[in-house]
Amino acid sequence: MDNEKIGQLLIKKGLITQQQLTIALEEQKHRNIGTRICNILIEMGFVDADICYAALAEKLGVKSINVFDQNNREIFEFTENQLLTLEQHLIFPLCFNKTANTISLAVSDTDQFLSIDLIRESFFNPSAKVDIFLCSQKAILNFLEQYFYNHQKLDPNQEDFLEMIFRIALARKCSDIHFQPHQYFTRLCWRIDGDLHEATLIHYKKWPTILGKIKFLANLDISENRKSQDGRFSAEIFGKKIDFRVSVHPTLFGENIVIRLLNFSNNIFHLSSLGFLSEQLKLIDKIIQQEQGLIIVTGATGSGKTTTLYSLLQKINRPQINIMTLEEPVEYVMGSIRQTSLTDNSKISFSDGIKSLLRQDPDIILVGEIRDTDTAIMAIRAAMTGHQVYATLHANSGLGVVARLIELGISHELVAMNIIGVISQKLVKKQCSCSQSVSCRICHGTGLFGRTVIAEVIAFDKEISLAISNKESLLQIEKSKLHGENHFSMEQDIKEKVRAGLINKESSMFF
Ligand SMILES: [Zn+2]
Repeated sequence: MDNEKIGQLLIKKGLITQQQLTIALEEQKHRNIGTRICNILIEMGFVDADICYAALAEKLGVKSINVFDQNNREIFEFTENQLLTLEQHLIFPLCFNKTANTISLAVSDTDQFLSIDLIRESFFNPSAKVDIFLCSQKAILNFLEQYFYNHQKLDPNQEDFLEMIFRIALARKCSDIHFQPHQYFTRLCWRIDGDLHEATLIHYKKWPTILGKIKFLANLDISENRKSQDGRFSAEIFGKKIDFRVSVHPTLFGENIVIRLLNFSNNIFHLSSLGFLSEQLKLIDKIIQQEQGLIIVTGATGSGKTTTLYSLLQKINRPQINIMTLEEPVEYVMGSIRQTSLTDNSKISFSDGIKSLLRQDPDIILVGEIRDTDTAIMAIRAAMTGHQVYATLHANSGLGVVARLIELGISHELVAMNIIGVISQKLVKKQCSCSQSVSCRICHGTGLFGRTVIAEVIAFDKEISLAISNKESLLQIEKSKLHGENHFSMEQDIKEKVRAGLINKESSMFF
């Protein structure tokens, strides 16, 4: 089926507009031959992948993945080479019915005869029948990613060891990969949900080759081993663009390497799926409905501040408003807003950046972090001139933000006038639904898996503002001005989540 026809089908179904098809067809001219129009439309955010492929399957008279019973999915043991073949051909075997001699395959294109034959012959048997289930490339890449999450083992002897590390790290949602040299081995571990976990040990004789490969990838000086070095590289894995920030630091037994993974395809989640409760969401709604003012998310490094900010932006984003950001670096890519990464263009400071943004007719500005007086002044100025300004700032509590701004040289009056809301948050480990079964594959018997936000939310009102400009002590304000209408405390949040069995009291104490 040609692209124009597919496009017209989607238009007829009301899934896309003619303009969207036109721009996607134009984009296709600049792509490799064989890039399907569906994938471009999905990538451009014009249509949902599942809906698009269901429509296509219906038209082609084949089954869509939606009708495949996921309970029938079989867990195959793939070799490293087979996995790379599947990734290359974008096909994923779902199950093999031996009695019926039929393989069920997830494919993104019904014209992939050669690839389908290859998988049938080299993975199963040449006489098998093939039952096709149509789905998006993204869905197939998700199957692969899941496979890596659950089954792929790491072996320092394998040829593509480093590639496998990156794939598993991504599938397991690691934030950092560590290579720690010891006397007889290098310990590979990764940070998942805030904790380091050992992945494997690499014999010291094997380490120099791997070290060299990493340095080469990151464009570092391979012969230099006594100085700290920083570099980066990017790669596309499971269809996601990943940036790897590499830091090398000399230690007693060799160079320690930490690689930070920045995943630009990170999903932006709804606030409630981050863990915000309905009472907190009500206060947040109250805050973001105000037309202008400063909205601050505070918490320690790694407490998920940026994730919360992006969920907020997602909630308010619509075509009628202009959202612009300044970040260092950009961690989430949102197609319909304008983002600036200050690391790539270090000639701009946060405060100069805000000055420049204000000439760009924004409605909403996001400032990665307020950490100096100039930035604080500019953020307040932006808020005073009719903008909503979102930012992060380091403080120990919700009202601590007020103290911090005053410490940075902003007057009590200006803080009182401009601040409209604060979210102070931490991330806490969630209890696994298995209630600590030793055989649990999700939490590996620890009883804890994933993290949730616990947060204090303050919706600043006249009463609080007046108290701040009257220079009342924060303790006084906390005691007499915060109440159910404008405040939800972190203690309340912990209490409710412990009661709901979502977290346990011990883990919330330590974070
Ligand atoms: Zn479990």
